[in-house]
Amino acid sequence: MVATLTRQDTTLAAIEAALPIDPQPYVIGDRASGLIVVDEVNGFCTVGHGPLAPPEPDEQIATMVSESDRLARTFVERGWPVLAFLDTHEPGKPEPPYPPHCEKGTGEEKLVPELEWLEKHPQVTLVEKDCINGFVGSIDVNTQRNVLLDWVKENKLETLVVVGICTDICVMDFVVTILSVRNHGLLPTLKDVAVYAKGCATFNLTAEIAAEQSLPKTAIHPQKVAHHVGLYTMAERGALIASTICL
Ligand SMILES: [Zn+2]
Repeated sequence: MVATLTRQDTTLAAIEAALPIDPQPYVIGDRASGLIVVDEVNGFCTVGHGPLAPPEPDEQIATMVSESDRLARTFVERGWPVLAFLDTHEPGKPEPPYPPHCEKGTGEEKLVPELEWLEKHPQVTLVEKDCINGFVGSIDVNTQRNVLLDWVKENKLETLVVVGICTDICVMDFVVTILSVRNHGLLPTLKDVAVYAKGCATFNLTAEIAAEQSLPKTAIHPQKVAHHVGLYTMAERGALIASTICL
């Protein structure tokens, strides 16, 4: 059988060769571990649920959701903490360069149906955020208190396992920031930040769609390439890219 390579696959192969990542199984062992689920909300993951949601069923996103659900269930069964970021915006307050999305009350800001159970689970902390970077979004503007820092400290976490969307946007900004936070000595217990590759996903916006919608060239976002570049960037900053999470 002759494999038909799409233009994106060919580009991906070249980029994977030029910017290699080497995902390895991550063994949690006896480290105190917490799971961070980034923005697995309807507005980014549920078909047709807003301007930034997938327009059609998406395999990478579906895999991310089911793998996140599986991991989250295992974490809570073991008594380990889970923190979920929810992209949530005040109606009418923009987040440039994006169109209005995940506004309060639209349902876009709610966890996808498969993960709705997290909302009421006592071991789960929900953090609404109105910016890309979950670390920054965890800061209370009035008190300057950072919910994420408190959560890691209270649970004396040594490992953070990270899943979510988008690999190269909200996941990446959080991960590269928390690595600096760790290296700066703000979280003395924290040792590893493991990003589970199959637990992450990003969106696809082809050149054709960009042209159709009169979007600038810079809006072009090939899913597989962007996902890879996100993983590569996190790896080069010191994140461990995991092929599996061994619990
Ligand atoms: Zn947003």
